[in-house]
Amino acid sequence: MLSFYDLTFEQLEALLAEWEQPRYRVLQIWQGVYRDLAVGPGAITTIPRALRERLQAELSFGSLKPRMEAKSSDGQTRKILFELSDGREIETVLMGYEARRTTCISTQAGCAMGCVFCATGQMGFRRHLSAGEIVEQVLWFARELKAADDHLTNIVVMGMGEPFHNYEATLAAVDRLNDARGFNFGSRRITISTVGLVPMIERFAAEKRQVNLAVSLHAATDDLRTELLPINKKYPLAKLFAAVRHYCDETHRRVTFEWALIEGKNDTPEQARALALWAKGLPCHVNVIPLNPTRDYAGQATTRERAAAFKAALESHGIPCTIRVRRGIDINAGCGQLAVEDGRRAVVVD
Ligand code: SAH
Ligand code: SF4
Repeated sequence: MLSFYDLTFEQLEALLAEWEQPRYRVLQIWQGVYRDLAVGPGAITTIPRALRERLQAELSFGSLKPRMEAKSSDGQTRKILFELSDGREIETVLMGYEARRTTCISTQAGCAMGCVFCATGQMGFRRHLSAGEIVEQVLWFARELKAADDHLTNIVVMGMGEPFHNYEATLAAVDRLNDARGFNFGSRRITISTVGLVPMIERFAAEKRQVNLAVSLHAATDDLRTELLPINKKYPLAKLFAAVRHYCDETHRRVTFEWALIEGKNDTPEQARALALWAKGLPCHVNVIPLNPTRDYAGQATTRERAAAFKAALESHGIPCTIRVRRGIDINAGCGQLAVEDGRRAVVVD
C-alpha cells in the first residue's frame, strides 16, 4: 500500500482531485499530519469522516513498527529499533541534552560504504529507505515530544546509512520536513553528514541548500583515509577538498569535518598538520570524538589527553575544533554504533 509519507503535496493534491475532493482538503490533511502531528487520518478532525475513512483504507499511515527501545543510563539518549514494512530493521536515536532535542535518523538499512570502524558499515547494505520512511522517524519523536509539551530542536542525518548514496529520498525527506505548510522545520537546524561522495557534494552545492553539511574525514592523508574509509580510493582527498571548497564558495556556508579519534592512528600531530594544509582558508570546524567501540574493529579510543593535544594542534594551525562527548554508548546508540544485524544486542528497558 502507498504510504502517505511518501507523497509530496502535489501528489496528494492529484490524488484528492482524482477522488473529487475540494482543493482545500489537501491543506487540511497536510496540516493535520505534519503540523498537528495526527497519528493517522482518524485524528484529523477538520475533515469529514468519510474522507478520513477513505484515507485510512487506501493509504498506509505508519510503516515503522517499534520493536525495541533502549535508554542510556543517564536517561538522555533513547534508541528505537523500527521494523519496516518488509521486515528490514533500522535504528533511530533521540538525544536530549540541556535545551536541545535532537533526533539522529537513518537513511538506509545498513550501509554500502564499509568504513572499518562503523557498526553500520560492518553489517553491509540492505536497502535504501524511502523519503516517507525517513520522514516517519522524525514524526515519531516529534509526536512523542509534543505529548510531553516539548519539541524537536535539531535533526541530524547521521544514523544508519550514507545519505548521499540515497540522495533523492534524503533530500525529498528534508524538503517535506522543511515545508512551511506542514512540519516547517528550519533547514539550518538540519545537518546531513556524508562520507564524502564527491558528485553528490557538487550537486548539493549546486542546489544551494541551507541545510548544514558535515563531512566524515577521519584522516588527512590518502593512505590512512583509504585504510579507514574505503570510499577514499574512489574520491581521494584532493577531489573531496575541491568539492568541499566549491560547496563553501557556492553557499557561503561553513562545513563541519568529523573525526573519530583512534589511538595512535589519526590522533597524531602529523595528521593535524596534514589537515591544516588541506583546510587552509576553508571556513570549517572540526568535531572530534573519541572512537566508539564496535564489534569488528580493534582500534581504541584516543585518551582524553591525546584528544586535547590533537585539538590544540589543530587550533595552533588556526582550525577551530570541538571535542564532542560520547553519548549513549552504553546502549550502542553512539556515532557509528547503529546496527541491527544482531541488533538484539540492544538493551531492553521496560
Ligand atoms: N554515513 C554518514 C552518516 C552516518 S555515520 C557518514 O559517514 O558521515 C555518522 C558519523 O559517525 C560519521 O561521522 C561517522 O564517520 C561516525 N562514526 C562511524 N563509526 C564511528 C565510531 N565507531 N565512533 C565514532 N564515530 C563513528
Ligand atoms: Fe556508512 Fe557512514 Fe558508517 Fe561509513 S561511517 S559505513 S558511510 S554509516
